[in-house]
Amino acid sequence: MSASPSVAAVSRIAYLASDILVNALSASGPSPFQASLHPFTASSDTKAAVTHLPFGADAGAALLRHRSARLLSYTAVAHPQLLNSLLLHLPELSSTPTVFHVAVSNDLSDALVLTSSLPFVLYSRTAQQAHDHALLASRLAFTEFIAVLHIFELGDHAESVHEVDGDRIQPFLFAPKLSPRGSVQKPTSDPSSALQTYQSAAIATVSLVRRPLRPFTQHGASEPHTVIFTLGRATFKYDIDGVSFVDVALVKPLPSSTVLNTLSPSVTRVIVLEQIHRWTMKWTPLYLEVVSAIQQGELPSRPVVQSGVLGDASTVTESDVAALVQEAASDSAPARLSLGASPSTQATASAPHVPKHEVAYTKILHNLFPDRLDILNSPEQVASQGQAATTPEFALGVARGEIEAREELIAAVQELLRDPTVSIDIHSILSRWLGARDDGAKSKRIGEELVAALEGEKLTSPAAQKILILRRLLPALSRWIIGSDAWSYDLGASGLHHAVASKLNINILILDTTPYSTRNTVDPHRRKQDVGLYAMNHGDVYVASTAVYSSYSQVLQALMEADRYPGPSVVLAYLPYVSESTPALEILKETKLAVDSGYWPLYRWNPAKEREGKEPFSLDSDAVKNELQTFLDRQNHLSQLVRSKPELAAELVGSLGENLKQARKQRAAQAYDDLLTAIDAPPLTVLYASDGGKAEKVAKRLATRGKLRGLSTSVATMDSVTIEDLAKEEMVVFVTSVAGQGEFPQNGRTFIKTVNGLAARGERPLTSVKYSVFGMGDSHYWPRPEDAHYYNKSGKDLDARLEQLGATRFVPLGLGDDQDADGPETGYKAWEPLVWKALGVDAVEVKEAEPEPITNEHIKVASQYLRGTIVEGLADTSTGALAPSDTQLTKFHGIYQQDDRDIRDERQAQGVEPAYSFMIRVRMPGGVCLPQQWLIMDQIADEHGNGTFKITTRQTFQFHGVIKRHLKSAIQDINRALLDTLAACGDVNRNVIVSTVPSLSKLHAQAYEFAKRVSEHLLPRTTAYHEIWLDKKLVAGDALKDVEPLYGQFYLPRKFKVAVAIPPNNDVDVFANDVGFIAIVDEKGELAGFNVAAGGGMGVTHGNKKTYPRIGSMLGFCTVEQGVEVAEKIMIVQRDNGNRADRKNARLKYTIDRMGLDVFKAAVEKLLGYQLAPARPFSFEKNIDDFGWITGQDGRHHFTCFIENGRVQDEPERDFKTGLREIAKVHKGTFRMTANQHLIISDVPTEELPTIKRLLAQYKLDNLAHSGLRLSSSACVAFPTCGLAMAESERYLPLLVDKVEKICEENGLRNDSIVMRMTGCPNGCARPYIAEVAFVGKAPGTYSMLLGGGYHGQRLNKIYRETVTEPEILAILSPMIKRYALERHQGEHFGDFVIRAGYIAPTTEGKAWYDRMGGEGQYRDIAVTA
Ligand code: SF4
Repeated sequence: MSASPSVAAVSRIAYLASDILVNALSASGPSPFQASLHPFTASSDTKAAVTHLPFGADAGAALLRHRSARLLSYTAVAHPQLLNSLLLHLPELSSTPTVFHVAVSNDLSDALVLTSSLPFVLYSRTAQQAHDHALLASRLAFTEFIAVLHIFELGDHAESVHEVDGDRIQPFLFAPKLSPRGSVQKPTSDPSSALQTYQSAAIATVSLVRRPLRPFTQHGASEPHTVIFTLGRATFKYDIDGVSFVDVALVKPLPSSTVLNTLSPSVTRVIVLEQIHRWTMKWTPLYLEVVSAIQQGELPSRPVVQSGVLGDASTVTESDVAALVQEAASDSAPARLSLGASPSTQATASAPHVPKHEVAYTKILHNLFPDRLDILNSPEQVASQGQAATTPEFALGVARGEIEAREELIAAVQELLRDPTVSIDIHSILSRWLGARDDGAKSKRIGEELVAALEGEKLTSPAAQKILILRRLLPALSRWIIGSDAWSYDLGASGLHHAVASKLNINILILDTTPYSTRNTVDPHRRKQDVGLYAMNHGDVYVASTAVYSSYSQVLQALMEADRYPGPSVVLAYLPYVSESTPALEILKETKLAVDSGYWPLYRWNPAKEREGKEPFSLDSDAVKNELQTFLDRQNHLSQLVRSKPELAAELVGSLGENLKQARKQRAAQAYDDLLTAIDAPPLTVLYASDGGKAEKVAKRLATRGKLRGLSTSVATMDSVTIEDLAKEEMVVFVTSVAGQGEFPQNGRTFIKTVNGLAARGERPLTSVKYSVFGMGDSHYWPRPEDAHYYNKSGKDLDARLEQLGATRFVPLGLGDDQDADGPETGYKAWEPLVWKALGVDAVEVKEAEPEPITNEHIKVASQYLRGTIVEGLADTSTGALAPSDTQLTKFHGIYQQDDRDIRDERQAQGVEPAYSFMIRVRMPGGVCLPQQWLIMDQIADEHGNGTFKITTRQTFQFHGVIKRHLKSAIQDINRALLDTLAACGDVNRNVIVSTVPSLSKLHAQAYEFAKRVSEHLLPRTTAYHEIWLDKKLVAGDALKDVEPLYGQFYLPRKFKVAVAIPPNNDVDVFANDVGFIAIVDEKGELAGFNVAAGGGMGVTHGNKKTYPRIGSMLGFCTVEQGVEVAEKIMIVQRDNGNRADRKNARLKYTIDRMGLDVFKAAVEKLLGYQLAPARPFSFEKNIDDFGWITGQDGRHHFTCFIENGRVQDEPERDFKTGLREIAKVHKGTFRMTANQHLIISDVPTEELPTIKRLLAQYKLDNLAHSGLRLSSSACVAFPTCGLAMAESERYLPLLVDKVEKICEENGLRNDSIVMRMTGCPNGCARPYIAEVAFVGKAPGTYSMLLGGGYHGQRLNKIYRETVTEPEILAILSPMIKRYALERHQGEHFGDFVIRAGYIAPTTEGKAWYDRMGGEGQYRDIAVTA
């Protein structure tokens, strides 16, 4: 199948832009995309991983498997079977960076089905437009993390395309976002600014392709009376008097303002032509958009809007268009105009007649199950069977008959299979049919083959004859009974009860036509039963409640699920109308009211899921979730459901997350407070949006202070209130911090979206509300002058919007700045008194002390030695999370609560709690494990985690994606491997790390033994770990007897890290640790002792100059025997002197700088009772790993594998996880993890060498042909699991290395090692502050760039640029690396060179880290200077 230019162009862009490309093959096999992609996939320089899916395969599931890719593309030629099967997955896929490229041929019917679930839809008429839109769609999906539908015409082979250079596509994707005015724009998911988002991506695309890209293109008369919108393959360039044309390219989002801009005051008529030949609903999508825009717009006079079908435009002439305009204006104009020959005319005419109210749904059924739809009570049968033919009893009888007949058919097929005279061909067809008899499409196809073969061979056996007689039943039919809500009044008499209780595989569709606004006027003496609840109570019935005018895709999902369910299904369908002439817009309005109010909730109940251990109930209407409390109180579906199945209430409520639960508690507390509060002042509501907890703290403190002044106060997140509730409040204070580039924090995003939407529509629902806003930000976070508007943007925006909504500002906007002397408190102190004054309580004397805020110190001491309420939390099945205080405690047990941030917004939009899971970190001193232990770890990742695991910078295993239900069994499995997770995180001594140096086997063994001793000695002694996770129960009350001789009840002020380095390799970055032991050997090569360094640490907070990285200071020398005690005493001095009031200033590095090194050392020596000897000479050469084979002093062999960023997983062409499992099965030595996140297959005896080498080669684990840069690179996890990540790290660094290594190669530096590191936030888990070049995440796609670290970890680097994006990184590094190649001294490392060459000043100590940041001389950053 040869590809048209449009397909070729789209395939090329999809391939070059994406990581993963899924192409759907055609029903006949090959697809035009496959041909276009072939040259790419055949080349060795493979970019995207391409999968060709057979026709009918589940493409949605395939895409979801790769959801973590940076850009996914799907290509297909439109076909209902292909696109309908995607629908089930679209809600999940819509928040992934996916582009659906769907080729159509003069008919958009199938492709437009996808529009309802996707935020952006583009349409291309020409091959050139398809090329440009493919770029635009990729950019949108990539930068916004959303799915985009790109529909384009297959076109013809005569078209030509100007293609952009392939090398420019990736930089284009990564380029910073531009607003329509050209400045860098914040990412947004706000629907009201979706058009701006489109425009931003369009501007970026235009600057690449140098061709205009517009949502609409208007041409023709300048003062038209008629405007013709076209969505289809037509561009009418005619000069017809008074007629202008609008060619639509952006199908969604389509804000009314965009539509209205095309209509000048002269317009009296609008014709909307859409190339849609098969559409199941009365009104087509563009027509509805245009009508609704015109209705909403304030036009002097509203033009008439008419809908039309656009046929084959190639045959349309100017006079055809003129005739259309005339026909439209005539009195006899048809309800639907048409222009050009339409292929669907005949098909539509032959559709069977069904009552009008059923059409919307029955058409969908015909569309979904073509050729196998069996409407058991079809009105067509009335003529032959009488009125009874439409009743459920009749239909049930038919169904029973058919099902029995099919059983006979199956028996006949089985009998014929046993007939020895049957030919091999027929035998094969019979077996295939038997295997596929329940599969709709396959059973039909094979059934047709079977009939043809039986007839061809003229078999006369009774079994063959029976099959031919029953041939109608060869396809697995989709059996439906269709009825109205009239059946709901008496379930028994109507026969509905028998159908529901039949256990037969039948589907019942019940249409409810009662309009919402007249629901209370129906006959009160006839009570309608809730068929959905009635059916659900049977337990084995699939039930869905749908409304086609609210969510078309949910209807499709429900109908498909009902069809698949192997038992009775009931689908309730809402279609409110009074008479045949009720306009579609009225039905739309009534549906919206019913769904939004909760009168008609959308839901699906699938007992099949329950059997798989999944939640059977899904609520599909958001408004219902937000209003659940009110909804449950009413006599409707869910309240009854909850009464009949009480345990469901907890699950439903649990799925709402913390906010709603809190809101409820607050309401109860408020009622109580109201009773107690006698003061005659208006109640104060404090709403906050906060990511890091700072704004939350300020809001809660404000509310407490309000209470102390006698006010009735409540405090909640912004997302937990609706605008309706807010409108009832009198005095409201908003406190917000800012995320990324001026965005709202997560728990205020839904609120601000609603506020923006209302403001855009000019609504003023808050006229009785008085408000004040306090914003918290950092004026230096985005230091460039052009980015100054990001400072406190969320607070400023909110302040302005609330005014637009009619609210009155009672205190001016307050702004807190991290850069002020007292941080945000400086601004806050000026603002808060104004609030009390405005409320008339400024003179109230506050006698009570403010309750102290709960800190980690309180949590620790109240935890009964790290128990808290973890056990209770694990037993609570209503939520996937643990209580916030317990999440602090589980860290001490090596467990971090996280959630999948890739789908956070999506889940929030659905009203369900975040997708919580846990990270588990193993304690494994020195990173040494046995093959048997490796195998168990491998199994744990598969059985309990996300199927992968990470080797961390602290030489241990880290599992992600472990859900709460699996936590305990995962820990028990780790224990089975004789390992544990105790103290792998938390305010205690963490995993002790040791240099790996395989060549120095003896020294390593001694250092490793020492590390184990230190680790064991500094381990917390609480029995809580064994009690909670390993069920080693203590006698009641024993917890009180727990003692922590080293730590005490408060444990340490912050984390504590110990490393042991064996010169000349500083692979553990010994100076980045709180305590560093540097092995010193004596003349005989024996371990004599250690030089001890203290006070290293990496974590920093952006913009907070009280925080800085520091490298350890040398204290002196100790013997091996003294080492454990030295580590203990250093820890005790820190325990007693560390800052417990401010966690950001609590690490040992700050304690030493505060005390002074001498005083600190003296305190340690006092506890030791002796002085440390002077430090002995040593020298480090590097801090990276030696890859490949090395033979140790003991003759054993060691192979260091390159595991990029420590992620052990199977990828296409790199089955590392499987490979390592296979090695572990035969390996007799050990595995050693390195602190650079790589792995050593260690202690391989000579006789084992051939086997290990073969396995390494088989799984490509021996591939070390990487650049020096890649081998020296390292990244932390960051997105999607790390809750602190501000930017990508592990998923992005390899791609950045791809580009930077090209620069190195061009300059002859392919094999030169440059230590480059990246972290997603300034916490610095991958030790970025001692790398030669490093990137620390600030916001998605934006990093701080640091330069000048020492090659072997001996010197801190320094901030060179405060904000850089990828193009800037490449622009900075390109000349720098070139100069390094030309001007470096012999053996000079990059970090030293950039200092000598004058790019950056050296950092002499941690406290001086900020001095001279921003570059030197001509390389100084202008933003820093300013
Ligand atoms: S450096 Fe920050 S983003 Fe990266 S893993 Fe550590 S805490 Fe998470």
